[in-house]
Amino acid sequence: MLKIINDSNPRLRERSLPVNIPLTTEEQTLAKAMLDYLKHSQDEEYAAKHNLQSGVGLAAPQVGVLKRIIALYYPKADSDQVVELALANPRIVASSLRECYISGGEGCLSVPVVHPGRVYRPWKVTVEAYDIINKKNIKLVLRGYDAIVIQHEIDHLNGVLYYDHIDPERALEDDPSVVVV
Ligand SMILES: [Zn+2]
Repeated sequence: MLKIINDSNPRLRERSLPVNIPLTTEEQTLAKAMLDYLKHSQDEEYAAKHNLQSGVGLAAPQVGVLKRIIALYYPKADSDQVVELALANPRIVASSLRECYISGGEGCLSVPVVHPGRVYRPWKVTVEAYDIINKKNIKLVLRGYDAIVIQHEIDHLNGVLYYDHIDPERALEDDPSVVVV
């Protein structure tokens, strides 16, 4: 099983390198293992047995591999659909001025200590990436929670952690244009 490194490891502060398309077998195996890890982490029985924290997204540097690969897996709110994505070289090509944040704050499999505070992010982003599962380039337009998750994961590829975005002063104001997710 993959081993997650935490934020005491300087590797998480490095910038990951783009991957060549098509991916090597090793890179494909890694992406699949990342998705499997997320699925397992959401299986209560399995997670309890293996002492896993539940996660919805994972970036390759979190398992010590400095390559631009991310995985997302979670049930979509208010629907029976599941978001399941394994992406190489994801990049944000457009983002809204409108912002949002998760009311309970963000969490991270690599951050054992909770850092309370609002993480403001663009509410809507357009992301271009190589879809590892379907083996093609894709463009995604994501809003709200979906936009937050992918921004959190892309941050990992640039050595950024969610708490870097927390501004204690800004958390005090209540801006009505900001969407609470
Ligand atoms: Zn994270």
